[in-house]
Amino acid sequence: MRSLLVLGLVVLLAACGEGPGSQKADEGLVVYTARKEHLIKPLFDRFTAQTGIPIRYVTDAAGPLLARLEAEGERSRADLLITVDAGNLWQAAQAGVLQPIGSDILSTNIPAALRDAQNRWFGLSIRARTIVYSTERVNPSELSTYEALADEQWSGRLCLRTSKKVYNQSLVATMIVARGEEATESVVGGWVNNLAVPPFSNDNKVVEAIAAGQCDVGIVNTYYLARMVAEDPALPVTMFWPNQNGEGADGRGVHLNISGAGVTKASKHVAEAKQLLEWLSGTDAQLQLALLNQEYPVNPLVSLPEPLKRWGEFKGDDIPIAEAGRLQGAAIRLMDRAGYR
Ligand code: FE
Repeated sequence: MRSLLVLGLVVLLAACGEGPGSQKADEGLVVYTARKEHLIKPLFDRFTAQTGIPIRYVTDAAGPLLARLEAEGERSRADLLITVDAGNLWQAAQAGVLQPIGSDILSTNIPAALRDAQNRWFGLSIRARTIVYSTERVNPSELSTYEALADEQWSGRLCLRTSKKVYNQSLVATMIVARGEEATESVVGGWVNNLAVPPFSNDNKVVEAIAAGQCDVGIVNTYYLARMVAEDPALPVTMFWPNQNGEGADGRGVHLNISGAGVTKASKHVAEAKQLLEWLSGTDAQLQLALLNQEYPVNPLVSLPEPLKRWGEFKGDDIPIAEAGRLQGAAIRLMDRAGYR
């Protein structure tokens, strides 16, 4: 009888053993993060040192993490989901795996356009998707807006990353808000006509192609260029802030996206998860977060650290970034119609 009980206990423990760190299931927080370990672990360590709350984490791409949360449902050990791009955060909220968190601290530290209206996710850093150009073959006075890259002037001179990447889906989704579908489709069609080479699999390759003379202009997230310039200060590529001047859509500002987080619906440690979110939005963590990946703070009280200052001030598009999620499907279909692969 006793051995049967012991056996039962072993089976029970084994059944619980699929999550991370199963022996201490009730201790600390579990974070599912699409941010790479080196970009987030220093912050977790700092939070633990300051609060005594341990953090265990699982890193994976955004899609698999969301699928895992959905599959685990209420049994999930995850307390917080951290991922990049409002499109992904919006999908997680739609899938019902996040819960609303009311917090005056979060409302104060994070501009309304960079968080979910229902408080299910919050932007933690800003990622600007901007124009980059060859300092050898382009005069910045020739540049103005994303839309102008569809002009004849750039025929055979443009490089883009694939339309399969959520970054470009979000960019096009926000352009639909600014210009409507018809005008946006003709812009995207113009981009496709101007491509020097087929779209690349990542932003680094866009910058490398410009440096190598394959093309003259492209669109990338600023942190890719910032990292590459840090490695090679002589890189003949720099950034241009588009859509800074003019009326309406022309002057709406550079496309801003976010990395962000939400508390899971399944969380058994909501108070601590909320505490971590609030801490991440505070000035100390915001500065670290920006420096770790050369992104921009969401908290307007944090002044730009030195390496980011070199790219100058810019005006960002202030449409609610949730729109990037809502119009993601429309953007994908539009890019497909326009022949953007
Ligand atoms: Fe990226």
